[in-house]
Amino acid sequence: MVNAAALPKMIDLAIVGAGPQALTLVTHVLQKKKSMRNRFVVLDPSGQWLQQWQHQFAAYEIPHLRSPVVHHPDTNPHALRAFAESRANELFPPYDLPGTRLFQDFCQEVIRRWQLQDRVIPTQVEHLEPIRQQGRQRFQLTLSNGQVLTARRVVLAIAGGVPHLPDWAKALPKTYPPERLCHSGQVDLRGLRLGGERILIVGSGLTAGHLALGAIARRAHVMMMARRTFYEKLFDAEPGWLGPKYLKGFHAEPSWQTRWQMIRDARNGGSLTPAVLTKLRRLERDGKLSFYEQCEVQSATWKETAWQVVCSHPGAHNCITHLPIDRIWLATGSTLDVHNWLLLSAVRERYPLPTVQGLPVLDKHLRWPGCNLFIMGGAAALQIGPVARNLFGAKLACDRIVPALIKENLSHFRVQA
Ligand SMILES: Cc1cc2nc3c(=O)[nH]c(=O)nc-3n(C[C@H](O)[C@H](O)[C@H](O)COP(=O)(O)OP(=O)(O)OC[C@H]3O[C@@H](n4cnc5c(N)ncnc54)[C@H](O)[C@@H]3O)c2cc1C
Repeated sequence: MVNAAALPKMIDLAIVGAGPQALTLVTHVLQKKKSMRNRFVVLDPSGQWLQQWQHQFAAYEIPHLRSPVVHHPDTNPHALRAFAESRANELFPPYDLPGTRLFQDFCQEVIRRWQLQDRVIPTQVEHLEPIRQQGRQRFQLTLSNGQVLTARRVVLAIAGGVPHLPDWAKALPKTYPPERLCHSGQVDLRGLRLGGERILIVGSGLTAGHLALGAIARRAHVMMMARRTFYEKLFDAEPGWLGPKYLKGFHAEPSWQTRWQMIRDARNGGSLTPAVLTKLRRLERDGKLSFYEQCEVQSATWKETAWQVVCSHPGAHNCITHLPIDRIWLATGSTLDVHNWLLLSAVRERYPLPTVQGLPVLDKHLRWPGCNLFIMGGAAALQIGPVARNLFGAKLACDRIVPALIKENLSHFRVQA
């Protein structure tokens, strides 16, 4: 970790966030232009690379990634497979999915190889002010440690989703112990003692699946509830979305609204991997888990020591109302809307831009039209497609951002596909 005092007052490129998206950007920029090494800073309150990623995998006890071995932050797609040569047992079927430890060790190796160990400044960017300096457009970044940094270009790689809560949960009076109703982002399986508890997990995605397996391993009984039927899918989105098979048609689509629908259809809500669904079905047969499908919570009332839950199909699931439920975990995903990104309030005002369902219409270099602000991650999905938030989405984003960062003449601001 570097000392925030080491921060210069003026920098060419400020990269906000130090997750997999930012790390992928840095390796790709340095590969194309070594002289960028001393021209950028990375800012993240954790002061470390991939802190959020590591936390998620540890808190949900995820054994391996969902994406295959060729998806990672290094520039060489085969680098992780080569790294795993003597650790083949850490590549999981069916498509060599890297084990969590293997992936983390590899990422540390990538950080070392690109000499990035001390590049993350431990601070949060609170505000981004577009300014003019000697007739040129710049950004002034206000940091949580009180410092102000001026940058010529900014890349936001902050993920930026906020936990999505169902309406019934938002409306609940806060009369219950906070640990008894949590969004999945607040759950950390490590250190939880759940023996004999009954836990209701809401949501149909892989996070719900990991939490269910973790709770059952701690001898809890789990009820999994989702508005849809639980279903299996190997990846978040079909592999055709990683290349021209589907992306060609996506990029040819002129309507941003239609593109948004294509993204939504491709992701098709939360899904479980076949391996996890098989495990859950087995646990159902063993009486440790019950599925409540095509069903949602209508109301939940905290009754001194447990929840009383009424669902939308009380006729079919009458039982649930009479079962005291010790905890409810909401694996209901997150909502991404750039209108809610406080740090961009001045940028939005100075450079208003169209959005679709909260996603910004960026130019083909993933640039906020009118200024040198670039966005990676899920917020770039209208250009990158349904995998924008994933590891491979970072590579696709680099294909667009890196040329604009290293070639000074790519500074036109028209919005185009
Ligand atoms: C449980 C889980 C498993 C996943 N597994 C896979 C997988 O196997 N394969 C795959 O391809 N994808 C996977 N994903 C999706 C995706 O790859 C990850 O969510 C990944 O962490 C996203 O990377 P990121 O860099 O956009 O965001 P993050 O990892 O969340 O990093 C963003 C960083 O930005 C920082 N930040 C935020 N705001 C500010 C600010 N104002 N100033 C400074 N810093 C800020 C945060 O502190 C954070 O460190 C998974 C996601 C989850 C939740």
